[in-house]
Amino acid sequence: MARYTGPVCRLCRREGQKLFLKGARCTSPKCALERRDYPPGQHGQVARFRRGQPTDYFRQLREKQKVKRVYGILERQFRRYFREALRTPGLTGENLLILLERRLDNVVYRLGFADSRAQARQLVQHGHFTVNGRRVTIPSYLVRPGDQIAVREGSRRRPYFQERAEMLDEMRVPDWLSLNTADLSARVLGMPRREHVDIPINEQLVVEYYSR
Ligand code: SF4
Repeated sequence: MARYTGPVCRLCRREGQKLFLKGARCTSPKCALERRDYPPGQHGQVARFRRGQPTDYFRQLREKQKVKRVYGILERQFRRYFREALRTPGLTGENLLILLERRLDNVVYRLGFADSRAQARQLVQHGHFTVNGRRVTIPSYLVRPGDQIAVREGSRRRPYFQERAEMLDEMRVPDWLSLNTADLSARVLGMPRREHVDIPINEQLVVEYYSR
C-alpha cells in the first residue's frame, strides 16, 4: 500500500500541533514546530495572522487529515477503514480509532520496538516480526486478542534489536498488550479502547467529514 514520502515535519506544521512522526527528534529542540510554529508554504506566516473563525468544514477536514497523518495512511485506505467502522456496531468514530490502533505497525510502535510508526512500518515490511509464529510483512495487518507477536528469531541477534531490548524495560505498554522483554515477544490481551489513543483527536469531526 502506498505511503506518504514527502517532508514529514510540514505535516505537523500544517496541523499546528506535534504529531510525533519522527521519534526522538520530536521531543528535542530540533523539532520544526518549535522553530517555525506556522503553516508551511510561501504564505504560511501571513496565514497565521489572517486566519479568521474556522468553518465547520475546515475543522472537519483538518481533523481527518490529522488522524491519517498520525497513522501514516493515505486517503483511499483511510476511507476503507471508515467504511469498516460504519459497518461495526457501536460509535463509528471510536470504531475507526480502534481499527487503526490494531494495525501491526502501530502495535510494534506501541510495544517500543520502534521510535515512530513510520519506522515500525519499515521493520514490519522488512520481515522482522512474526504473528502466531508466521512471518508477517503487511503493516496494515489487524491484530486480534490472543495473537502472539514476536521479533523473528534471526532478527533478535541483530544489534538494533539487542540495543532495543535494553530499553524495553522502561517502556510503558498499553494494558491491552503484554510485553515479554526476555524473548522480545508480546501478546494481545484484548481490544484497544478509546482511551488508549493518546493523541488529542476529535473523531466525531472525522465522522462528520465523511457524512457530508
Ligand atoms: Fe512533528 Fe516530530 Fe517534526 Fe516536530 S520533529 S514537527 S513533532 S515530526
